[in-house]
Amino acid sequence: MALNGLQIQKLLPKTNCKECGANTCLAFAMKLAAKKAELSECPYASEEAIAVLGADNEPPVKQLTLGSDINTKIGGETVLYRHEKTFINDTMLAINIDDDAGDAQETLNKIKDYQLERVGEILILNAVAITQKSGDAAKFAALAKKAFEITKLPLILRSDDTKAIKEAAAAVSGTNSVIAGVNKDNVDELLACAKEHSMILSIAGELDEITAITRKLKADGFNNMVMQFEADSLAATFQLNSIARIAAIKDNVKELGYATLKFVDTGDELTDTVMAINEIEKFGGVCVLPKFDAAQLVNLMTLRLNIYTDPQKPIQMEPKIYPIGEPDRNSMVFVTTNFSLTYFIVSGEIENSGISAWLVVPECEGFSVLTAWSAGKFSGTSIAKFIKEADLESMVDTRTISIPGYVAQISGELEEALPGWKVAVAPQEAADIESYIKAFNR
Ligand code: SF4
Repeated sequence: MALNGLQIQKLLPKTNCKECGANTCLAFAMKLAAKKAELSECPYASEEAIAVLGADNEPPVKQLTLGSDINTKIGGETVLYRHEKTFINDTMLAINIDDDAGDAQETLNKIKDYQLERVGEILILNAVAITQKSGDAAKFAALAKKAFEITKLPLILRSDDTKAIKEAAAAVSGTNSVIAGVNKDNVDELLACAKEHSMILSIAGELDEITAITRKLKADGFNNMVMQFEADSLAATFQLNSIARIAAIKDNVKELGYATLKFVDTGDELTDTVMAINEIEKFGGVCVLPKFDAAQLVNLMTLRLNIYTDPQKPIQMEPKIYPIGEPDRNSMVFVTTNFSLTYFIVSGEIENSGISAWLVVPECEGFSVLTAWSAGKFSGTSIAKFIKEADLESMVDTRTISIPGYVAQISGELEEALPGWKVAVAPQEAADIESYIKAFNR
């Protein structure tokens, strides 16, 4: 049961020293209760407070970091639905390579080079799964080592041969990779291997088999686990992922408080894609795709970005002055907010008009134009301050700035705050920017 602010305050020193950034211990306790602060921000927290609040602050789904060079977090979730608060960590997308595949090197290079840009975000693959098909432990281990050396991503090692797993784990020791397919028959041997090489165990089986193993390992002090439900159909996978997440979050069932791992390999491309969509939409931790397919990835990556974007934090552009095309000292100057969608719509319309221009994007906490203006984040004064700090005047001879039509009311304030500049009012709708530019330059 989560503690409330008053209960938490009783565990704090009550000296109101302010070192945590809050004015009082009670204010800090309220922030802790709302999960907006970490206990480590109070340097004077007692051991009792750390023990009690540490357990209380632990998310119902354990968070794990995979990888040693390129890290990705999974789990850490606290809600069933994104609109309740937010989802914390994206579903990891991984590509499987069989150790007898002739094109393994080529696939590894594609995985390493894969990047997709969406609304200013660079999306990449998160892991590589190596499946033993060759029957040769040394070959399996060598491919695992090579996969890590090329991609620097965490690995998922899959083999029925415990000896092969141990050899591969030793070859990529310390990479916080995953050993897949751990069951009641091999768990003891693979637990020792995981401890020795800093690996995560993926516990496989039916729901009750998984629960029995996670309970035992957790009681023995090992907690670096994910769950690998053995379900072939879409419906069964959907059901098991949902049961586990509901049990962890609503009923505090610790044995099911782990992220999941799923190998999607039905042999049918369309079914695989739907299975992967299910993982992204319904609580999947790691989704392993059977092969590298850029057409499939572009859809899955875009869906993942949409599902896991924090609804409380709009996607933002870095505040700065962006060149659109190849602007020079006499190019037009526009201003808009740093909400990514606004930026891409406005910059796209400027590009479509065929001119080059400067686009001033001040810090607006990712709000759109009207929201930023009504929140006082997009005023004549704040835009002028940003322009001065960014030293736009030394970059251009232009002295006219076009502001969005929705905030025509700030033109007087902006002209006052930016002596020597003329403010022009662009259209309200971005779709009209092209004709505005033509009329402006006539
Ligand atoms: S740092 Fe600790 S003791 Fe100081 S005000 Fe914050 S909670 Fe209280």
